[in-house]
Amino acid sequence: MELDEALKKLSELELKMYAYGAASSSLYLDSVTVAPRDTAEGRGIALGALAKEEHALFACRETGELLDYLDSQKDRLEFKDKRRTEELKLSYDKISKIPADEYSEYVMAVNEASDVWHKAKEQNDFALFMPYLEKLVDYNRRFAGYYDSTKAPYDALLNEYERGVTMEYLDGFFAALRESIVPLIHKISQKEQPDTSFLHKKYPTEAQRRFSGYLMEVLGLDRGHCGIGETEHPFTLNFNNKDVRITTHYYENDIASSMYSVIHEGGHAKYELDISDDLQYTCLAGGVSMGIHESQSRFYENIIGRSLPFIKAIYPEMLSIFPEQLEGVGAEAFYRAVNKAEPSLIRTEADELTYPLHIMVRYEIEKKLISGTLEIKDVPEEWNRLYKEYLGIDVPDDRQGCLQDSHWSGGNFGYFPSYALGSAYGAQMLSKMQEDNDIWTGIEKGDLTAVSDWLKEKIHKYGSLLTPSEVLKNACGEFDPGFYTKYLTEKYSRLYGL
Ligand code: ZN
Repeated sequence: MELDEALKKLSELELKMYAYGAASSSLYLDSVTVAPRDTAEGRGIALGALAKEEHALFACRETGELLDYLDSQKDRLEFKDKRRTEELKLSYDKISKIPADEYSEYVMAVNEASDVWHKAKEQNDFALFMPYLEKLVDYNRRFAGYYDSTKAPYDALLNEYERGVTMEYLDGFFAALRESIVPLIHKISQKEQPDTSFLHKKYPTEAQRRFSGYLMEVLGLDRGHCGIGETEHPFTLNFNNKDVRITTHYYENDIASSMYSVIHEGGHAKYELDISDDLQYTCLAGGVSMGIHESQSRFYENIIGRSLPFIKAIYPEMLSIFPEQLEGVGAEAFYRAVNKAEPSLIRTEADELTYPLHIMVRYEIEKKLISGTLEIKDVPEEWNRLYKEYLGIDVPDDRQGCLQDSHWSGGNFGYFPSYALGSAYGAQMLSKMQEDNDIWTGIEKGDLTAVSDWLKEKIHKYGSLLTPSEVLKNACGEFDPGFYTKYLTEKYSRLYGL
């Protein structure tokens, strides 16, 4: 085989995989937006068939030979082609170990579980979800063995979301985090809390839709390339760097919920939209890892979106959209309200300070589920016990407890820690960004260019061309969680006058 011919074959393979991915994503998008409620069955069959085809295309002997050949020629390859080969070879070695039938059964099981989870959550019925959760845990335990049988199963799963991360590492990271967060939360509990009642006046959906449009404009999201939809749970879906979709959920009695969803998902979208054109339709086209992705969404949501300069900048427009609701409320009061730190039940609504504790609960449970030391039926009890221990609160029901998140129903075990890692990465990026530029003068005027440009140049444009740890090192040096604890301590000490 000639090198040119092999590279051409590689591009053809990647293009087909892009097409399968795009088709599956479109079906998913349909299922959570406009599809009627009882239509999951046929879609599940289509998704299963697509997954089987994709698996057959990728996990076949021909692909193995192509990747082996390119690997043998790696000294002659350009950097980008070397990385494409490396990444695909890693996936190939893992995926080709999963039998095709088992893989397509898994895809169908996920589709079914996700459907049942929605109903179980709605009806507050963990028993309904239990057999499906059990199935997905079993699959993931088996897959962990396929991914890397030399690792503990949960380590192999963690590695899928953030390469190189292990339980040993996370145990240390979370312990250090708890050590600095818990005393802060305790000190804050002795202080007077800000008024948040105005966040819960009636904010009509139609006005909130206009506000979302304005926020997207401030974030620099081009509506021609980034759509916004409405779903039960907000998410971002990327087709390519010219077509990204975000979603939100409007609650008329809570302005902050959708506001910060839009900014969070907007951060994910900006990452995908900024990835270089020359990486499109290759395996390097997407954001590099869950941790780096969450660092971007949480950077916009918390570090920028919950900062006083940003709120001051958008406040005049907020007052014009919600004049009655915000009457007599200043930007400073709004800033304090959206930064109120208080232990609560729901992860996605948690403040920046208590948020990592929600992640730690899930992490502890996943560790036990995957190692087999916790039975599925005991998940609610363990969940409630950990919420009491870490956050000091009682969980009234499973809907607000272990059924609240969609991740497990999607078969994603090992994902949650990425949120906490992402927050920590973001704090380190902020420190370097502030060293390089004055970002806050612009932000105060509603001009986020200095932030966007820095993130695009240092992180976004690379897509998956660099590995997660290279991206971070390249942007702001070796990972040091100390930036995160310092950031949280300073921010909350200032907010609460500690
Ligand atoms: Zn996110």
